[in-house]
Formats: sequence, C-alpha cells, structure tokens
Amino acid sequence: MFGSHLSIAGSMCNALDEAESLGLDTVQVFTKNQQQWKAKPLDATTIDSWRSRVAELGFSGRTVSHASYLINLASPDDALWAKSIDLMTDEIERCEQLGIPFLVHHPGAFTTSTREAGLARIARAYRELFTRTKGYRVVSCLENTVGSGSNLGREFTELAALRDLILNDAVEAQRLGVCIDTCHAHAGGYDLSTFAAASQAIDRLEAELGLQWVRVLHLNDSKGALGSRLDRHEHIGRGTIGDAGFQAVLRRSEFANIPKILETPKEGEDGSELWDTVNLRRLKALQQGSSVEPISISTAKPEPAKSKGKGSFQRSPSPRGKSRTAPSAKPIPRSRPERASQKNPKSGRRGKAERA
Ligand SMILES: [Zn+2]
Ligand SMILES: [Zn+2]
Repeated sequence: MFGSHLSIAGSMCNALDEAESLGLDTVQVFTKNQQQWKAKPLDATTIDSWRSRVAELGFSGRTVSHASYLINLASPDDALWAKSIDLMTDEIERCEQLGIPFLVHHPGAFTTSTREAGLARIARAYRELFTRTKGYRVVSCLENTVGSGSNLGREFTELAALRDLILNDAVEAQRLGVCIDTCHAHAGGYDLSTFAAASQAIDRLEAELGLQWVRVLHLNDSKGALGSRLDRHEHIGRGTIGDAGFQAVLRRSEFANIPKILETPKEGEDGSELWDTVNLRRLKALQQGSSVEPISISTAKPEPAKSKGKGSFQRSPSPRGKSRTAPSAKPIPRSRPERASQKNPKSGRRGKAERA
C-alpha cells in the first residue's frame, strides 16, 4: 500500500487526483497550511468531496495526515504548550471530519527542560487531547525522529516509554500508534544499509516497541550518513540506506497492510518522469524482488510478501554469488556522531515534505 505526501494547493481533492494519476494506493496530506497556527474550519463541500473521492478511489481507511510542525507537545513553555494542544486538537478534528484514520506528528522537543519533563508533558497533552476528542477514531501516530537538538523520539525504547506514559492516563489505546520513518531511523543511528542490518533493526523495533504499534511507514532514503542526525530525505535507493534496506522493510509481513508513504523530494525530474513515479516503481520492484537498476544486491528468487521467517532472505543463496546481504555487515557504531546542524525551518512549501 504505497502513497506519497502530496500538495493540497488549490483544493484538498487535488492531492487525491494526483495520487490516482501516479498510480498510488493512498496519500498523505496536510489538512491545512502547516505553517500557520490558525486555519479556517473545513466547509461541508470540502468534506463531502474529499470523502466521496476517497471512497471512489478505494482509499478509505488508509489515508494519512501529517500534523503541523509548529506543534510542540513537549514544550516547557506554558503558552506554547497550550497553543500546541489547541492546534493538535484542530488537526485531530479535521482528520475525523475528513475520515482520515492516521494523523502523524513529531513527539516534540523538550528545549530548556529535560528529557523526562518533555515526555511527561507529551503524556499530559495527550490526556487533554483524548478528553477533548472523546470517541473519535483518528489514530495519532508518534513519528520517530533523527533526534537532533532536544527532539524526542529517536530511540524505539523512547517511543515505547512515551506510549506507556500516555496509556497510563488514557484508556484509548486504539487511538495511539507509531509512524516509523526509515530516513529518521537510519540517520538516528539504526543501520538500515544492508538487508541483515535492517532486519536486525526491525527485530529491535519488534522487541522494544512491538510491530503492531506501527500504523504508518515513511519510506525515505537518507542524504545523511548513519547516525548523522541529519533529517534530509533522499530518493529510494540513492541514499545512505540503499536498496537492500528497503527490501528488508518491504518484505516484513507485519508491514504488508499499512500505508507506506514517500516523502522524497519532488523537485526536478528523472529524465521525463516525475520523481514519485521513479520512486514508486523502485519500491514495487524491491517489494517483489525483481531486479532494479542499479540494484546493489541480488536475491535468490521472488518470494511472496507474506513469506514468514525473518531473515529468510539472508539465507537465500545468491544466484550470482554476489549477495551483500550476508550478515557480515559492518559493526554498527552506536555512538553519537557529531551534531548535525539544525534543519532550516524556512524553505519552499514543496520542500517541506522532504523533512516530514
Ligand atoms: Zn524527515
Ligand atoms: Zn516522515
């Protein structure tokens, strides 16, 4: 189930039309201008046309919204924290109105306080959010981050701790989920650059969080190196993750039926093709095991996506004997590399999706 973050410029339905023309199975959108605190409420026409178009395309139950970057539920500043809760409430309400089941957001940054205080602050914010939106079906998904500055949510264990804190106070477990971004994971220190290493990272995610909590995947390659804490998305197969890591992710049966969203750059084009077309084709090829050019690994034979047994591909002999997927992967430096410079919050609207 592949989608892409697409623009709602002009009309919300434009994103749906574009998704259809790209041959996608779903879409991710901002339901408002993500750089503004206030948005005018959705009108009935917008809601109706979005809902009927979603149904027509068969996208029901799989669309995704990304919350505004202005929101910081971990902020120690009371005014900013209250504003963040108000805006997040608005985001949840808009999703509920539009029938968007998944709302992805970054956990937040603790800035001048501490990690623990920041996590507690998010949990308290959630208590308020779930109270205000009681009975709603929208699943709020905490997205993993590269962990730059004081941003929370880099480590799988931290996401799990945050989930537990939130669920201590709220009983609505079905309204909470996690979104895993491959670029953020890799740049955050989880090696996804070989089939074996990526399989190991997914196993860690399974052990430390539980794969059933992962409701959305963001599939982005990374411009930054492993552990660089640089949040810069690259086209699939062309970054520091590469094809093999995506194969490992795409062939996990647990991820088979969740939305997988591209947030890769759109600028320019590859030859005469749109980048989304190029990246989608590559993902599909990697999922099916057919060869892609320039593929960096070779696999024995295509296996159905539902094939069980983690790492079964590691054992598959390579027909050309050139598999880079053997567990000879370089040791994973788990140390903290130098601080990456903070992402520039001011750049073009389209470029935003690159850092979502
Ligand atoms: Zn990002
Ligand atoms: Zn993302």
